[in-house]
Amino acid sequence: MATKILIPTPLRPFTDKQDAVELDGRTVGELLQGLITRYAALGNHLYTADGKLRSFVNIYVNDEDIRYLQKEATPLNAGDVVSIIPSVAGGSGAVETSSPPTLSPDEVRRYSRHLILPEVGMDGQRALKAAKVLCIGAGGLGSPAAMYLAAAGVGTIGVVDFDVVDMSNLQRQLLHTTPDVGRPKLASAKDKINALNPNVHVETYDTALNSSNALDIFAPYDVILDGTDNFPTRYLVNDACVLLGKPNAYGSIFRFEGQASVFATKGGPCYRCLYPEPPPPGLVPSCAEAGVLGVLPGIIGTIQATEAIKLILGTGEPLIGRFLIYDALRMKFRELKLRRDPECPVCGDHPTVRELIDYEQFCGITGGVTAGPGTITPGNDSISDMTDITPRELKAAMDRGDSLVIVDVREPQEYQIARIEGAVLIPLGEIPQRHAEIDRNLLVVCQCRSGVRSAKAASYLRSVGFPRVLNLTGGILRWSDEVDPSQPKY
Ligand SMILES: [Zn+2]
Repeated sequence: MATKILIPTPLRPFTDKQDAVELDGRTVGELLQGLITRYAALGNHLYTADGKLRSFVNIYVNDEDIRYLQKEATPLNAGDVVSIIPSVAGGSGAVETSSPPTLSPDEVRRYSRHLILPEVGMDGQRALKAAKVLCIGAGGLGSPAAMYLAAAGVGTIGVVDFDVVDMSNLQRQLLHTTPDVGRPKLASAKDKINALNPNVHVETYDTALNSSNALDIFAPYDVILDGTDNFPTRYLVNDACVLLGKPNAYGSIFRFEGQASVFATKGGPCYRCLYPEPPPPGLVPSCAEAGVLGVLPGIIGTIQATEAIKLILGTGEPLIGRFLIYDALRMKFRELKLRRDPECPVCGDHPTVRELIDYEQFCGITGGVTAGPGTITPGNDSISDMTDITPRELKAAMDRGDSLVIVDVREPQEYQIARIEGAVLIPLGEIPQRHAEIDRNLLVVCQCRSGVRSAKAASYLRSVGFPRVLNLTGGILRWSDEVDPSQPKY
């Protein structure tokens, strides 16, 4: 009896790009063993060295987590669909409000389509006006979320961000427009929100969220909207929400797939119930590395705003205990059940995390280039001997006619945008299978977009015995700045 296994986007490089695989197996364990027998490279991503399923990978049979069935012994029946749900990085009851403010005649007109909805009405609109929502990030998810929250009449919107608007943000971050390039995102966000609705009080926090400021920043808010694009901040937001008892309207995006849920409500699960630990650094590429469909954060951020508004109104069925997965390519929504884990280290019955911790360290990021274990295969953590070459030095070596090979570890679609003449394209994920194609007698220069992926590739090549491997610092972006301005930056 063949069972269908749905393969998520981050793991498809290991299944010959297939999004579904059919295999025989009487139990989930048998099925997964069959899967990693067929696709050996997947083994490292699903199992630890001692054969345990990794904690940042969840397995579902239909809409149930196998942790709440019979784990890997869960029997399979005809028609069952097994899903692998890894964590991805790149966004109850009514919120208490005491004597909500009244609406001015202008506000009554502005919100008239809300006021005639029985589920909102005057009481609901006043609750929205009294409410405070904090958006973590004014990027892809924060843009639609903040705009719709503002349009809906949420009285106070906080925005945390320290970034500057870049041209490459405009493909999806609709808070910012072309004239804003180079401005702080906070300034741009405040302008747009107040242009849409001057009644909204916008509170800005020009800082990177961290363990020492998160609790103070979160304290005045009713709902936290997680629009972060990295794991340390995601766990920080989760833990701070649990510790303060504030609901977290969660969303995240990857290429064409999005996730949404509501975490950290009273009695409901938190992000750590789903993913107790983050994946090793580098296993899940960021949006900057992997790309993201521009409208995707529009959908997911709007779902987050919807949930925030429902929490404030205390109406409808919030996305608590449900994990929504959206596939833009297939235009499909799936929903998985989530439960609060009594063993959860932060929201469980006997929590071990009682204050905010060092999340960079927790996520295995020790500063600088994040070339941790598990990037390509676990166990290659040798970054200490990293040696770099600058674009100008590389150009000089090429002009001298040095014997070298440039290995471009980006994806083919990036190679089409800009490249160094003569570079050999081997995407990072294919390096373990294809490194034999590289002449190890030559000096190998690894290159990517900004120098992060190529550092991982260089580290890996050294670990498999390449004697001379250098990393091009700053990647093709710096190459374009310093050597060949005809190569467009992206
Ligand atoms: Zn939890």
